Amino acid sequence: MKDTLVFDVRYIQDGVFNNHEVEIPTSQLELDLEDVRFINPVRGTVQLLRHSEDDIYVKAEIFTDVEMQCGKCLEPFEEDITATFELQFTPTNNPGEIEDGERYYDGETFDISEDARQALVIQIPVWPLCSQTCEGLCYECGINLNKEHCPCQNTDEIESETPSVNSPFAVLPQLLETAKSENKSKSKNRKEIISKDGTSKT
Ligand SMILES: [Zn+2]
Ligand SMILES: [Zn+2]
Repeated sequence: MKDTLVFDVRYIQDGVFNNHEVEIPTSQLELDLEDVRFINPVRGTVQLLRHSEDDIYVKAEIFTDVEMQCGKCLEPFEEDITATFELQFTPTNNPGEIEDGERYYDGETFDISEDARQALVIQIPVWPLCSQTCEGLCYECGINLNKEHCPCQNTDEIESETPSVNSPFAVLPQLLETAKSENKSKSKNRKEIISKDGTSKT
């Protein structure tokens, strides 16, 4: 078990995957995020492959557990965080030769701590939810609706009706109703007229 993400590649055999099991204290990865608590060290597997003139291919699969606060019900909950990433390192003693976006190492060691940190952080939700079906808190009394019900359960319905009254389209059904009843009375009148005509003819 390896407790750092700094790798020495000098003794890696060519063309063969070299697997490392890792367990890294989260403090070492500077995983200080607001409202996120890392419960376990970061564990996983890092595979290294030396090929074509000391280029190093790296494939890492790492995971940990975090505790976050639900954005709806505000309860703390735990979640597994898993990240995988691949990198390619080229050896050089002259970093100036390296093109943008390429990774280089000095031919001896390289460090993927920052890559691991970024890969994990990107997996942490910006708007964490304890569950996709979290009911959240009651707007009225603040009760956690996942756990209990409250007398103000109808608040939602009232709120959803209120904006439609203010909507410019709210008057449409009313206008349609008026138009319908006007049509009805018009057609009634027409019938009356026809019948009047009819009677007048006979
Ligand atoms: Zn929740
Ligand atoms: Zn309530």
